Amino acid sequence: MPMSNLAIATLGVPRIGLRRELKSALESHWAGRTDAAELLATAARLRAESWRRQQALGITHIPSNDFSLYDHVLDLSVMVGAIPAVYGWHGGPVPLSTYFAMARGTQGRPAGDPAGDHGTGPGCDCGGDHAVTDGVPAQEMTKWFDTNYHFMVPEVEPGQRFQLAGTKPVDEFLEARALGIHTRPVLLGPVTWLLLAKSRQPGFRPLTLLEDLLPVYAEVLRRLRAAGADWVQMDEPCLVLDLDGAARTALRRAYAVLASAAPGLKLLVASYFGPLGDNLDTALSLPVAGLHLDLDLVRGAGQLDAVLAGLRPDACLSLGVIDGRNVWRADLPALLDRIAPAVRRLGTERLMLAPSCSLLHVPMDSDAEVQLDPELRSWLAFAAQKMTELAVLGRALTEGSDAVAADLAAAAKAVHGRRTSPRIHNPAVAARLEAVTADMARRIPYAERRWLQAQRLHLPVFPTTSIGSFPQTDAVRKARADHAKGRLSAVEYETFLRQETGAAIRWQEEIGIDVLVHGEFERNDMVQYFGEQLEGYVFTRHGWVQSYGSRCVRPPIIVGDVSRPRPMTVGWAGYAQSLTERPVKGMLTGPVTMLHWSFVRDDLPRATVCRQIALALRDEVTDLEAAGIAIIQIDEPALREGLPLRRADGPAYLNWAVESFRLAACGVGPATQIHTHMCYSEFNDIIAAIGALDADVISIETSRSKMELLDAFADYRYPNEIGPGVYDIHSPRVPTVAEMVDLLVRAGKNLSPDQIWVNPDCGLKTRRWEEVRPALANMVSAARTLRSQA
Ligand code: GLN
Ligand code: ZN
Repeated sequence: MPMSNLAIATLGVPRIGLRRELKSALESHWAGRTDAAELLATAARLRAESWRRQQALGITHIPSNDFSLYDHVLDLSVMVGAIPAVYGWHGGPVPLSTYFAMARGTQGRPAGDPAGDHGTGPGCDCGGDHAVTDGVPAQEMTKWFDTNYHFMVPEVEPGQRFQLAGTKPVDEFLEARALGIHTRPVLLGPVTWLLLAKSRQPGFRPLTLLEDLLPVYAEVLRRLRAAGADWVQMDEPCLVLDLDGAARTALRRAYAVLASAAPGLKLLVASYFGPLGDNLDTALSLPVAGLHLDLDLVRGAGQLDAVLAGLRPDACLSLGVIDGRNVWRADLPALLDRIAPAVRRLGTERLMLAPSCSLLHVPMDSDAEVQLDPELRSWLAFAAQKMTELAVLGRALTEGSDAVAADLAAAAKAVHGRRTSPRIHNPAVAARLEAVTADMARRIPYAERRWLQAQRLHLPVFPTTSIGSFPQTDAVRKARADHAKGRLSAVEYETFLRQETGAAIRWQEEIGIDVLVHGEFERNDMVQYFGEQLEGYVFTRHGWVQSYGSRCVRPPIIVGDVSRPRPMTVGWAGYAQSLTERPVKGMLTGPVTMLHWSFVRDDLPRATVCRQIALALRDEVTDLEAAGIAIIQIDEPALREGLPLRRADGPAYLNWAVESFRLAACGVGPATQIHTHMCYSEFNDIIAAIGALDADVISIETSRSKMELLDAFADYRYPNEIGPGVYDIHSPRVPTVAEMVDLLVRAGKNLSPDQIWVNPDCGLKTRRWEEVRPALANMVSAARTLRSQA
C-alpha cells in the first residue's frame, strides 16, 4: 500500500518535563539562584526533547509554541502587547522579568512553593487569585474551561492598542527547524483570547477590540509563513461554549481576515472540550483549511455526521479521537469503527488524527509508574501512550500490516480486560447503590434541627471556627517525608502528629475559638488523603499535571468501584475531641470534590462514581457521629468548577452533585451539625443548589470581595447559617480586629446576626503560624466585639 500522508497531530503536549525539570528551573530562577540564560537553556532543552519524542512516536504534525514558561494565554497577551501599565512596559522586547511580574506579581510571595505540590489549585486548594501583598500584583488567574489548568486572565481596556511585542511563535518554529523538525505552530485564537479577557471598565466588551487585534495576528502569520510554516493551528475552544451573535460574527470576521493573511499558509481551527453544538454552522462556515473536532466519546460524541455533511469541499478534518483529558487506554478497533464514515467520505488525504484536546491535561508517561502492577499499567495511557495510540490508528488506516493488527488487538484486550476485571467491580457497591432511597438523602426540616443543635452545642452568637487545616510547617512536611522514606517509624510519626494536634487544640482553647479543628496535620492533600484509604483509587508516582505556572498536581485515578474498608478520620477526630470539652469538627472532603480532582473511570457515568464516593463518605460521617463528634464539615470546594461548559447542562449536573452531597451527609441524626465549605467568590448561578445541599452551616470565601457576594445569599434568603470568611488566607497579611468587625457588620446587613459564623476564607495550611496566631486571635476579638454590641 502506498504511504499516505495522513497527518497525526498532538495539538499540544505537557511542558513541565517528565521529572518536572521546568518547575525546578523556574523556581531556581525565581529564587535568584540561576539567571535567565540558564532558565531559557533548560526550556529549550525540554522543547527539543519533547519534539524528538513526538517524532520518534510517529507524530507528523508536531506542535510548536505550545510550550510556555508559565502559561500560553499569558504568552499570547504578551505577544500582542496587552501588558497593563502597572507592569511598566513601554514597547520593545518584553523582558522576562515583566513576563513573570504579570504571572506572579512582584514581592509578597516567597520564591519557592509554600504549599509544595499538595494543593490542587492556587494558594490553597481553591481557584482564584494568588497571593500578592504589595509590589505589583499578578494578573488574575482562573480555570481554563472545565480543566484544572489555570490561566492568567488577559486584561484590556477601551481603546486598547495592540502591537507585535514578541515573536515567540516564530522563534520556536525556527528553533525546531534548526533541529530538523518541521512543526505546526499553535496560537490561541483571537476570539477565544478576547472572550477570556477582562476589562476594569464595567460593561466594556473586549470582543469589540477584534479589528485592532487582527493585524497583529496577521503579522505573526506572515512571519510564520516566511519562516517556512505551512500549517498553523488556531485554538478556538470558545466554539464549544454558549456563544451569542456577536461572538459568532467575530469568529467569521476573524477567519475571513486571517485565512488570507499569509498566502500559502493553511489554518486549522481547533475546537475542543466538547461538541460544537449550536456553533456547528459557524465553525463549518469559517474559510479555513482545516477544522479540529473533539470527538471524545464522552464530551464530543454525535457530531461527526453533521460535520461531514457540512464540511467545506476542500477542507481537512482533524479528528480528536483519543481522549486528551483522561488516562485510559483507548479501544482502538472501536475508534476505527467510529471514524470509518470520515475515512470513507474524505479519504486519508483530508483527514488528521489527534487527541481530543492538548495533552497538557494528562501526565507524561504511564510506563514510569513501575510500582503499579502490569495489568493496571496496561489499562493506562498517558501522553506518550496516547501518541502511540494515534500512530497505531494511523497505520491501521494506511498500512493494515500484521503488526498493526496485533497492536489493535492488544488495545482491545486491555480495554476489555479492564471493563470485566473483578479487580474493579465490587458487587456489594453496586448493590448498595441500587438500594439507595430518597429518604437517605433527606433530614428533618432545618428549623427543627437548628433547635436541637442549639440545645446540644450551646454556642454563643457569632460562633468562631476555622476551616480545617493549620500550617503545614517544615517540621510537619519533614516528618511526613521521613515517615514515607522509612526514616521515622509509624509510632514516631503518630506521636509527632499527636503532639501537633494536641498543641493546636490547646492553643485554640486558649485564644477562645468556639468550634475547634484538629488541624489536618496528618493530611498530605485533601483528596489524596482520602483516596489512599478508599478502595477503588490508584496513585501515581510521576503523574504530574500542570495546575498553573510551576505548580503541578498528581491527581489520583479512580479505577474501580469505591468503598471504604475502614474508618479514615475517626481516630484523629476522636483523639482531638478527647482533649477538650469544646466541640471539635470532623473534617471530610466531599464526594463532588473527590470526583473532580481525580481522573475518573470512563466505564461508568460520573454521577454513578460520585454516588459511590458519597456512600463511602456516608459511612465515615455516621462513624464520626457514633464516636461523639457533634459537628462534621464536608468540604466541597470543587462543586462550582464541575459546572458543565454549556448552561443547558448545568441543572442535570447540579442535581446529581447535590444528591451526592446529601447522600454523604444525611445519615446523621438531627442534632448533629453538618457544615460545608466552598472557597470561591461566585455563587449567583448555583445559589439554589447551595441551598439544596441543606448543610446546617456553610463557610465561604468573602473577605476579598468585601462581603459583596453575600448579596446572592441575601437575595435567595438563604435560611441556614453562614460563615462569610473574614480573613483572606491567600495573603500573609494579618487582618486587624477593626477590619474584621467591619466585614462582619457588612455581613450583618445581608444576613441576620444569629445566622452568622466567624471564620477565615479557607484552610490555613499554606500560611505560617506567625501569621495565623495573631490573625485568629484578632478574629476571636472581632466576634466578641460583635457579641457585646448585639
Ligand atoms: N478543610 C480543608 C482545609 O482547611 C479545606 C480546603 C479547601 O477548601 N480547599 O484545608
Ligand atoms: Zn477553601
